[in-house]
Amino acid sequence: MFEQQFIDSLDFANNSRELHGKIAMAEMPRLQDKLVVLDVGFEHDRKEEINYTLRGFHDRNGKPMLEVKLVGLCQLRCQRCLQSLTYPLKLVSQLLLVQNWNESSVEEDEIDSILADNHLDLLALFEEEILLSLPFAPRHPVGVCRPVKEGYVVEEIDQIDQIDKNPFAVLSELKYM
Ligand SMILES: [Zn+2]
Repeated sequence: MFEQQFIDSLDFANNSRELHGKIAMAEMPRLQDKLVVLDVGFEHDRKEEINYTLRGFHDRNGKPMLEVKLVGLCQLRCQRCLQSLTYPLKLVSQLLLVQNWNESSVEEDEIDSILADNHLDLLALFEEEILLSLPFAPRHPVGVCRPVKEGYVVEEIDQIDQIDKNPFAVLSELKYM
């Protein structure tokens, strides 16, 4: 379970605080359509957990920063074969805390910024970071994809065709034997 969902982000950075813990993928609603729904009833259904570390610090210019580290396994859907794909999530993101969007200067453009918030929702923050880091169209490596379910259906229809034809073939063979 999530121990502390809200923090005062500036206080967190100014006092070099740190938080560790685990979050379940199921706790992040916006991630759900990216993830594979494993067969209902399976023990591992939506039990995937992500380890998080949140660290507050000041950068070399004395600016308040947050560092987010997220590590865990996600079950995504392969866009080629539509089967599940285990994606190892490992992201480290450093975020500058700004009072407003005009504050970040040109040299800070390459650093991601978030608005300082005395009631920062960590779950929403982690969810956003995960969404940004997941591949847009995840795929198994070439040759690893398992057959698509529809493929089996096509094969079954082919077999029925053969059965339809075969009785005549068998009959004619019997007739002329
Ligand atoms: Zn695949």
